[in-house]
This record gives sequence, structure tokens and C-alpha cells, in this order.
Amino acid sequence: MKDIIFLEPVFKEMIWGGNRLKTDFGYDIPSDNTGECWAVSAHANGDCTIRSGKFKGEKLSGLWKDHRELFGGADGDTFPLLVKIIDAKTDLSIQVHPNDEYASQHEKGSLGKTECWYVLDCEAGGKIVIGHNAKDKEELKTMIADHRWNELIRVLPVKKGDFFQIEPGTVHAIKGGTVILETQQNSDITYRLYDYDRLSGGKPRELHIDKSIDVIRCPHADKGTDRQEIKLEHAVVEKLITCQYYSVKKLSVDGKQVFKQSEPFTILSVIEGEGSIDGEKIVKGDHFILPAGYGDYCLEGSIQLIASHI
Ligand code: ZN
Repeated sequence: MKDIIFLEPVFKEMIWGGNRLKTDFGYDIPSDNTGECWAVSAHANGDCTIRSGKFKGEKLSGLWKDHRELFGGADGDTFPLLVKIIDAKTDLSIQVHPNDEYASQHEKGSLGKTECWYVLDCEAGGKIVIGHNAKDKEELKTMIADHRWNELIRVLPVKKGDFFQIEPGTVHAIKGGTVILETQQNSDITYRLYDYDRLSGGKPRELHIDKSIDVIRCPHADKGTDRQEIKLEHAVVEKLITCQYYSVKKLSVDGKQVFKQSEPFTILSVIEGEGSIDGEKIVKGDHFILPAGYGDYCLEGSIQLIASHI
């Protein structure tokens, strides 16, 4: 049998971050302003280390480069996905991402960014920013120039268990009191549209108004998701999204259930509970990859996971 590839997360301190990556997930975080756990990442800004087994101590980027057979020989210079857990103690800036075409022209050949959010937890009465209220680019430019942010920005209620697909060109922001699991294209290109006029170290953070206006889709159209539940004997599989970059599902296991790994590779993140995979203990906060050809796997316990693949 092939080894499961367990990963050590990389943590990012952020002005808006908190301590829930420690209190809720048990991670050893650098400070009480830790905003992001890069849980499955081969990005140069946070490359995960393999925790155990034959490849212990190696980086995920190195496995992608030198052992492509683990990933079913999938194409690409870089590992295609990035999975994060985000703890927003306060509001994140309002931002937008380019698509692949715009990023390749304006960001030195980088990929664009499509991302999706599974809401792990959120305070009562929580809110989230998705979309805007300008009817066309002209109105968008005018509202930005006139600082009519409250009119422009579209704020929605959010609750635990919600799921959102954020296409390139979608204005979005996580607001304070929310913890999410994000699955995204492997890209770090973000254009900041508005930062609530906050100061960081006495100065406002840089905004990218022109690039934001270039890429924001007008008018905003909600990208619906197609959530669908499949009941198995001891588990429920909920399909959350399939798009050109990834498929994401939620697995809720109660007892002992066998699944099949028939994808180039499967990323799994434990978001609740504890149990085992093929007899190996797994707990909330563990992230691992089942390599190509892994075959059947058995999850046992009372445990919830987010699974993704290309
Ligand atoms: Zn984003």
C-alpha cells in the first residue's frame, strides 16, 4: 500500500487574525494574530513539509517536482491547489482576484485565482461580502471615486456550514468572527479594493484600485453552487462544487465507511471529530494527500472531512 502524505501547515500572522487556529484546532501558532493556516500548499510563500513516512522532511513542491507519479502524472509547473484555514478575528480587506488570462499578462505569468469557502464556524449574526451593487463599469468607477462604499459593497448573512464559490472578478471579503476552509487555485494574487480606511503601522495598506476596476465583473452575478447529498451506509458525502480547477466535497462519517480513491490525488482535511484512516489515527486539524492509485480507504470514527481533487 502507498503511504498517505501527511503535511505540516505553515502559519501566517495577519493584522486581522486571531487565536482560534490554536483554540479550535490545537495548532502551535506564532501569535494571537494568526490569520491563516496554509494546510496543503506548495506555494513559494508557504511550502508545506511532509510530516512522516518515506518523504518526511521534504517539501510538497519537491514531491510535485520529483515524484509526479504520486499525483497521477498531473500537468503543470506548480502544484495546482492550495487549502487554507482562515481565522478572521476582524474584517479582511475587500478584494478581488484576476482570472488566469489577466494574471498572466499583468502578474509575470502567475495564475489567476478561483477560490471557494466552506464556513467552519461563525458568530451569531455573521456577515460576509460577496459581490457589489454597481450596474456597470461606469457606475462602479463613480461609486469608487465618490467613496460610496456602503452603497457599493454587497453584504450577506452567513452561518456555519455555508459554502461559496468565488469566481475571478467577484468582490469579496470575510468579516470578523468567521473561520473558513478555503480551497483555491495555487495563486497569491489579490487586488485590494477597500480596507475600511484602516491604518496599519500608522499608514493605510496599499490599494489596487485600477487593477480592481479592470477585473471586477459588472454587474455582479451570483455563482450558484450545486450542493447534493449522497447517503452511504455509514457516511454522507455532500458534493459542494465542481469547476474547471477543482472538485470539493464534504464527508461526514459515523462508524466505518470505505471510499474509493480513483482521482489523480485526493486532498483531505479533518474539520471535526477524530477517528482513523486505514487504522492510522486522524484528528481535527490534520491534512493529508492520498496519492494516485491509493485505492480503497477506510474512514472510521465520528469525523468530518473536506475532500478536494483536480
Ligand atoms: Zn480571495
